[in-house]
Amino acid sequence: MKIKLNNNFLNVKESYLFSDINKRVNEYKKSHPEADIVRLGIGDVTLPLPEMIVDAMKKAADEFLSKDTFRGYPPEYGYDFLKEAVVKYYKRNGYDLDLDSVFISDGAKSDLGNLVDILGDNDIYIPNPVYPVYLDSNLMSGRRIHYLIGNEANNFLPLPEGLDDEAKVIYLCSPNNPTGATYNKNELKMWVDYAYKTGSLIIYDSAYEAFIKDNSPRSIYEIEHGKDVAIEVSSLSKMAGFTGVRCGYTIVPMELTVGDRSLNKMWKRRQATKFNGVSYPVQRAAEAALSEEGIKACKKNLDMYYENTKLLTDLFTRKGIWFSGGINSPYIWLKCPNNMKSFEFFQFLLEKANIVGTPGVGFGEYGEGYFRLTSFATLENTKKAVERLEKLL
Ligand code: PLP
Repeated sequence: MKIKLNNNFLNVKESYLFSDINKRVNEYKKSHPEADIVRLGIGDVTLPLPEMIVDAMKKAADEFLSKDTFRGYPPEYGYDFLKEAVVKYYKRNGYDLDLDSVFISDGAKSDLGNLVDILGDNDIYIPNPVYPVYLDSNLMSGRRIHYLIGNEANNFLPLPEGLDDEAKVIYLCSPNNPTGATYNKNELKMWVDYAYKTGSLIIYDSAYEAFIKDNSPRSIYEIEHGKDVAIEVSSLSKMAGFTGVRCGYTIVPMELTVGDRSLNKMWKRRQATKFNGVSYPVQRAAEAALSEEGIKACKKNLDMYYENTKLLTDLFTRKGIWFSGGINSPYIWLKCPNNMKSFEFFQFLLEKANIVGTPGVGFGEYGEGYFRLTSFATLENTKKAVERLEKLL
């Protein structure tokens, strides 16, 4: 072919992390077929959905059987019943939202990747280490990237200290994947104040808000002027176990404007052009998950994951191993013992304890020397892993 391609893709690194991990595990299994491998590397939920959520999905599917209740294309921005459920969910946590600021999505990843469509050629500030989608989607659009470096000194919670006063686009993720670190109200206020002062936009990823156990903000809109500076992207994937069902929501407040141009209007236009909505049964399932009964049922699952988290964090506390996360997050981010590099520790755990985790360097160069474990395994397997780590570390 002779067409021109998007050369920005040349700047996007191939992601070898999980294929590399699988390759190493498979090689080990070949030479040690008897090994009982425990996987604490998965970033995906494992518990089944609460019955009332699946019932809502089935009931909605049945509506397609009858001429009277059959539905065609859903609204591009989501059915009002689900947008209202999102508004109520926020209200329950003490935050007021305008119904028109809510956009239903097929998950946070799509919107996080697509938001670049409505933004111009800004300098982009991205935490490192972090969930890779912010970086890769901006690289694909040829943006200039700057890192907000996370380290032990700032507890993997970079702050705006030292940044210039130019307007910029800033990505924040709290609770963070992979570090589990969560901004408290004061820290988040520093970011909102900075964005307000400089005319910057924050894209705030709250996909793990439901895991928050302390009084850290569950939404950036808890902070005064939050709606003047931030788009919030969230998901039912982890809150309600919807990774396979696919549903999320994005809040684009009416207050977000540049001159007389409204970001809300631009996002509406973008979605109406390139997105045809989320399927009706999925939106009914999401509505059920966000109801009082649904929230309770989902919380039971989150509490089960938390039991696993607690086993791991107690172990690392006993062993004096530095870690972040674990309280407000299904992720525990630990410093590799004996100054091992991330992949060295991966291999060490695989060979000495038959445990698989995720090397921190896979989330950015500043993750080197760290390691992510998750609480999404079964209780039985997590206990097994803790026993082995107790002896090994
Ligand atoms: N944001 C973060 C921080 C994540 O870790 C993930 C998934 O792992 C997502 C967004 C994507 O979520 P979704 O399943 O809603 O696309």
